[in-house]
Amino acid sequence: MRLGDFELISLLDGYFRLDGGAMFGVVPKPLWEKRAPADERNRIRMAMRPLLVKGQHLMIVDAGAGDKMEPKLQEIYAFDRRESLDVTMTRAGVRAEDIEIVLASHLHFDHAGGFTKKDASGAIVPRFPRARYVASRGEYDDATHPHERNRASYFAENFVPLDHAGVLDFWDADGEIVPGVRVRRTGGHTQWHHIVYIESSGQTAVFAADLIPTTAHVDAPWIMAYDLYPMETLAFKRAFLREAIDREYIIFFEHDPSIAAGYIRQDGKRLYIEPLC
Ligand SMILES: [Zn+2]
Repeated sequence: MRLGDFELISLLDGYFRLDGGAMFGVVPKPLWEKRAPADERNRIRMAMRPLLVKGQHLMIVDAGAGDKMEPKLQEIYAFDRRESLDVTMTRAGVRAEDIEIVLASHLHFDHAGGFTKKDASGAIVPRFPRARYVASRGEYDDATHPHERNRASYFAENFVPLDHAGVLDFWDADGEIVPGVRVRRTGGHTQWHHIVYIESSGQTAVFAADLIPTTAHVDAPWIMAYDLYPMETLAFKRAFLREAIDREYIIFFEHDPSIAAGYIRQDGKRLYIEPLC
């Protein structure tokens, strides 16, 4: 997809499944299962869609779960990585060593697992060997000091080795990462969860990460039970939806099982997605 000076390519690091109840918070199952059918273990299908941003720099936003996860967890989450990031990057004509900047929306395993890999000796090393990695300092502090409620989502092996390798940079406030690409804090999902704006030639695309993880989450109160601060999510999302509809943002849905990107449209009170890819 062309966006002014940028080319945006939605990649894929495969599919996994999470509990449908947890994915939709207070929304009752009879409502959510119409949008996201559950399997026999009440899980719904989700994708992991990192975004490749080709401009003056070659950037990737998030990197999926990667392949370091232990078999027991792979089974719990029903990981299906036949179409992994390696496969989809190759299809896009990009090698891991070409990536210059890796941007993190936040550091949960389904976003940051692919930041590192095991080398031949079993050591954990940066997966993109020439890249600078960029993350929110607050998110990194929280991820390295997990508590009972978020511990299952943060694995130190996904981000601490980056700091040790000296390839991790931090941002402290909303702002530009490179010209045309900026981060904006949403809070809500995690205290320091960010979304990414890509702007060129008067057009805007937004990588919505876990603010609107799938197209089924387009309605403001359809908020994940995983969110640590759901009222913060609601406030941000309500304002963001207005902005996205009025200004016709192209939204990238990181976890949607079938729609990678689209416009959010409004028909009376009803919101819906006009898919682009
Ligand atoms: Zn998350």
